[in-house]
Amino acid sequence: MGEVRTTCPYCGVGCGIKAVAGPGRTVTIRGDEAHPANRGRLCSKGTHLGETVGLDGRLLHPMIGGARVGWDLALNAVASAFSDAIARHGPDSVAFYVSGQLLTEDYYVANKLMKGFIGSANIDTNSRLCMASAVAAHNRAFGEDIVPCSYSDLDEADLILLVGSNTAWCHPVIWQRIEAARKQRGTKLVVIDPRRTETAERADLHLPIRPDGDVALFTALLVEMRARGLIDDAHLRAHVSVPEGFWNGITRPSLADETGLDSDLLARFFDLFAAHPRTVTLFSQGANQSVEGTDKGNAIINVHLATGRIGKPGTGPFSITGQPNAMGGREVGGLASTLAAHMDFSPENRDRAQRFWNSPVIAPAPGLKAVDMFRAVHDGRIKALWIIGTNPAVSMPDAGFVREALERCPFVAVSDVIADTDTARYAHVRLPALAWGEKDGTVTNSERLVSRQRPFFDPPGEARADWNIIADVGCRMGFSDAFSFGNPADVFAEYAAQTAFENDGRRVLDLSDWLGLDRAAYHALEPRQWGGPAPLAGGRYPTPDGRARMVLPRFPEAAAPDPDFPLCLNTGRYRDQWHTMTRTGLSPRLSRHRREPLVEVHPLDALTHGLTDGCIARVSTSVGSSLYRVTISDGQRSGELFVPMHWTDRMSSGGRTGRLPSQATDPLSGQPAFKNSAAAIERWDADWRGFLVAADLPEMTADCYWTRVRGEHGWLVELAGRGAIDIEALLPNGQRIEAQDRARGTIRVAVRDDAGRLHAALFLTRSGQLPPREWILDQLGGEGGAGGAELLAGRPANPAPDSGPTVCVCFDIGMFAILRAVREQGLTSVDAVSKAINAGSNCGSCRPAIARLIEDAHEETHVAA
Ligand code: SF4
Repeated sequence: MGEVRTTCPYCGVGCGIKAVAGPGRTVTIRGDEAHPANRGRLCSKGTHLGETVGLDGRLLHPMIGGARVGWDLALNAVASAFSDAIARHGPDSVAFYVSGQLLTEDYYVANKLMKGFIGSANIDTNSRLCMASAVAAHNRAFGEDIVPCSYSDLDEADLILLVGSNTAWCHPVIWQRIEAARKQRGTKLVVIDPRRTETAERADLHLPIRPDGDVALFTALLVEMRARGLIDDAHLRAHVSVPEGFWNGITRPSLADETGLDSDLLARFFDLFAAHPRTVTLFSQGANQSVEGTDKGNAIINVHLATGRIGKPGTGPFSITGQPNAMGGREVGGLASTLAAHMDFSPENRDRAQRFWNSPVIAPAPGLKAVDMFRAVHDGRIKALWIIGTNPAVSMPDAGFVREALERCPFVAVSDVIADTDTARYAHVRLPALAWGEKDGTVTNSERLVSRQRPFFDPPGEARADWNIIADVGCRMGFSDAFSFGNPADVFAEYAAQTAFENDGRRVLDLSDWLGLDRAAYHALEPRQWGGPAPLAGGRYPTPDGRARMVLPRFPEAAAPDPDFPLCLNTGRYRDQWHTMTRTGLSPRLSRHRREPLVEVHPLDALTHGLTDGCIARVSTSVGSSLYRVTISDGQRSGELFVPMHWTDRMSSGGRTGRLPSQATDPLSGQPAFKNSAAAIERWDADWRGFLVAADLPEMTADCYWTRVRGEHGWLVELAGRGAIDIEALLPNGQRIEAQDRARGTIRVAVRDDAGRLHAALFLTRSGQLPPREWILDQLGGEGGAGGAELLAGRPANPAPDSGPTVCVCFDIGMFAILRAVREQGLTSVDAVSKAINAGSNCGSCRPAIARLIEDAHEETHVAA
């Protein structure tokens, strides 16, 4: 097949990839130099995509209950469950919950079926959890969900504000672009984040803002710019509607206090903003995932509108999406709050969409947003639910409630690539979908750039494309005239036609250029930005009067402290994991960066709560609790905790973060508030702790803390517990060697197979030391080279110097190795480290971490001197 140009399936940066399939479902990956989003760069996740494309754990056949069935039976079951529910209880008794992983073609067919043929708007997407607040803010300010910026604005800005974004970890290729601009033209960087992340550490100014202090901060900035005479009155007069009473409404003496920032930091921020008119404000989940998410977006946009920093090169409010095709979903109408193709539910638009689809019905009003949808499943209003490409039993807030809802639902269908997800366990019917590398369609990235995802593997088993599965169900529900698409090019052509239908300049989303695209042209489609690089240049906005709107934000009262939950819990991503780890959890290299879910705790809070580095602690909120390993970090603000979002029931007994946030949402966008939950933490003392390495994963039934990640030849399972442990349940059969130290309560067991290869090893202790994990993990499946004494010691007789926790996953270089190189060779820059030992020289995702290690090493030298 040769080289295939496709797009990365992870984040909203939307990097272009060149893939070459090899024998046995292997693939070689490299960045596509011709793709405008990344110009050849890839981060650690994109670089190691090849480790995630195996068929391990894939759902390859339709299943009803636990039985394999044919497609006919499975699709008829879905179609009749939906048709029966609609006939008996009406169209609003059914729902689709879909995903930012879907391609635009998948989204289009799902939206058309639900809104135009079922006649309900109960289709929502997990993008609701990611950027719905930005969508609502865009609609209020611009009249349409328009991202006014492009990545090239980051190259041309003099000042970049990052709001609620750990860009270095979550959008690494954008981060590399920002770093390049700083190096080349001295762009200033301000990071607004309660946590001192690796991104914040590299900034010119870090504002460790109080959680949810952003509305106050951007409003204070606006008040200050007005006081300094920096409002662009000509721009406001010509292009912006300012509501009556706006300026009085934002004048509050308490604004600075509400940010939690000291006056010196605020003054430095205001000075930087005043001095650099070419400003881009990049905002992400830290702003969006809040009960004030929409107002935060509008507070940011207000500043840009009022100072005229929009529609010109190097300026603008820039919402960046988390998922690869969150933007495509927004375009076609995959959110319950949009009808289709950026049209709302006005009578004219409903009529327009119904005529375009020639459909029997049309959804009368917005449908249920994600959190409300699962409430409706829980209380029985939804009788049939189809979950496509997402894992809400883990990722939704108050996930325990979501599991109860799924348990109660009369009919649940799940389309997925993975057979056993936490959500799939509740499915009556499971439908095998194509995965990345097999799919064929388009995605839109954060800057409105449409790119092709192209297949380079044949479909495995009986897996089918999502658009094709949904269209087939549509046909079986009696709508074959509207759903007989032959290929994804047909679907895309119809979607493009809908954006252009009776548009007449009403909506910026207009793909007229792609009307009549045939299959060959679709196959060859080059990346292209709809709306151009600056869709709002010229000051004309897609509102009825052509003017943008400043919005008076709400200033909600701060909630009274809850003595039972005195801390604030923040949640987020790790650098090398993606969502619920169904894909990145397959990669041994990506698993090296963080082996366990950690709760990050400020040193003062650790002291108050009796926590030590490495102990286990229970984090609780009003809706649930979960166990985590503690790491003490002065990057946290005192009074706040941080936990990662990735671990699931399949990967751990603890660390399941979806249990913790409540169902609180932004009242306009419906986006859950994942960043600010009242929480408590307490030490969870284990009687014993240890770890298991195993070539084959045992069924983890042990009633203890356990969490697992992938190694090169098997699994690493961290363990801690109280009372007795059933060792036999953890170990396979084979030749055993064993050592015990009763004084320390230590047990070490190694199990070899008949050929002498290590099959499993278990290390448990009550009070002693445990060996490092890497060497013993690497012995799994080996040819019996290591001696019994070495295996039980967990280290070789002549160990190489310990390289420490992995920092650079591309070259497997650990923290101690980098520190040694820095100290011994006197290295003073990341480039020098890359040149000396390769670390950071490939994907670059670890460059901020290396920069921090260089600083640490030099601080130590300074102190020692
Ligand atoms: S930044 Fe990384 S995860 Fe995001 S699209 Fe690019 S390669 Fe993929």
